[in-house]
Amino acid sequence: MSASETSSNHPPRVRVAPSPTGDPHVGTAYVALFNRTHARQGGGQFLLRIDDTDRSRYQATSEDHIFHALEWLGLNWDEGPDKGGPHAPYRQSERLEHYQSLIERLMASGHSYRCFCTADRISELREDQKANKQRLGYDGACREISPEDSERRATAGEPHVIRLKVPNSGETVFKDRLRGEIRVSNDEIDDQVLIKTDGFPTYHLANVADDISFGITHVIRAEEWLISTPKHVLLYEALDEPLPTFLHVSLLRNADKSKISKRKNPVSLNWFRQEGYLPEAILNFLALMGWAPEDDNEVFDMETFEEQFCIEKLSTGAPIFDMTKLDWLNGMHIRKLPIDTLADRILSEGFGPEGESKERILEILPMMIDRLTRLGEFTDKTRWFFQTPEPPTKEDLVPKKSDAETSLAALKAASEFFGSLASFKHDAIASGLDELISQHGWKKPFLFMPLRFALTSRKDSPDLIEVIGALGAKQSVERIDRACEILRQ
Ligand code: GLU
Repeated sequence: MSASETSSNHPPRVRVAPSPTGDPHVGTAYVALFNRTHARQGGGQFLLRIDDTDRSRYQATSEDHIFHALEWLGLNWDEGPDKGGPHAPYRQSERLEHYQSLIERLMASGHSYRCFCTADRISELREDQKANKQRLGYDGACREISPEDSERRATAGEPHVIRLKVPNSGETVFKDRLRGEIRVSNDEIDDQVLIKTDGFPTYHLANVADDISFGITHVIRAEEWLISTPKHVLLYEALDEPLPTFLHVSLLRNADKSKISKRKNPVSLNWFRQEGYLPEAILNFLALMGWAPEDDNEVFDMETFEEQFCIEKLSTGAPIFDMTKLDWLNGMHIRKLPIDTLADRILSEGFGPEGESKERILEILPMMIDRLTRLGEFTDKTRWFFQTPEPPTKEDLVPKKSDAETSLAALKAASEFFGSLASFKHDAIASGLDELISQHGWKKPFLFMPLRFALTSRKDSPDLIEVIGALGAKQSVERIDRACEILRQ
């Protein structure tokens, strides 16, 4: 049997439905991005539902983190627990009576039944099935209990769950818009628990109940839920409700093709924010994992994405979560930002060195922009500018094939030159240093290397002439003189 789909002429109503069980997951943003873009393209609504019926895994702070992370990415929703909306509440733990009324419908029509099997019986059954290499699943022992007996035992307080009565024969058929027609023989579908002993619904019941109440037209979610979809389809059929359009998006994968996991990749959106990834770069990166732009230009903004994206062209391949690519994209997006905006971002996200003003940050930012992959590197890479760094070691100051004497001579000459320089401008600094090199017949690194260490205490700094210009004559001379002392020891 196959149910009909909801009419696709209506503006789409779509949702993302994270479970508040830990840090906000990058997979939530991935699915939210496609849902939200589809809604916007069709003038519809994007909903945020909080799936918090699994009380054993529930974490109180998680919901707020999900809100903040999605807001930070700009993936805002039209209806949700914090925003309200015509179908409030949007938190499953607050919708128990909706599930109850649905279960009453299913019980009355004979599509569900109470199961009084104890946890011990269920685990024995499982062990037997394993030993006999049988399909694992409930054997339907409680199906035959008469409605009167079932009612009596429930009223007497006997613990039970409520299960879906999956038809004994036939198959369940539905279409996934990305994957085509899917047919599953009903004898492979378990009599799924719909209401647990604690009276809470399982994901399957709550999910279908809410998608129906909220008028969801397209269920766009991760591929891992494809296996549950036949159970959902059976529920729609049992309730005589039209099916939404299903689209199961490919799972993000580690490089070894396994499902993305925190053991092998960062997965928390909080982590990406703390490291200084830009929302633009993350969205661009996530978009590219399911979709390819028309013109092969891999760096794009969300406006372009929204213009070109087509939900039905989402790829069903196995996208690899490639951090090197994300780093590259982040650098590209950093360099796309106006310098002033970049300074604001550094400050508002807490990446500025403590107590430093925007003006000071702007003094150094132009020379750093090509060297930033993540905003989180800013403070470390610019510490030499904002405060005198730890002194370099003598070894730092002596390049290979040179000696302490040459370094000392080079630094002394540079110090004298800077002290005497009337205008501390780029060209004057550059040509003066070139002159010193040719006067003394030094190889360029014999002067530049000790100078770089003397000024910044690191071997990777921005262009040396710019460093000198930014530090100014006084700071430069003081740091060089300090290095000379080290070389004399
Ligand atoms: N709560 C489920 C999750 O955490 C939602 C799955 C669905 O979108 O139906 O992914």
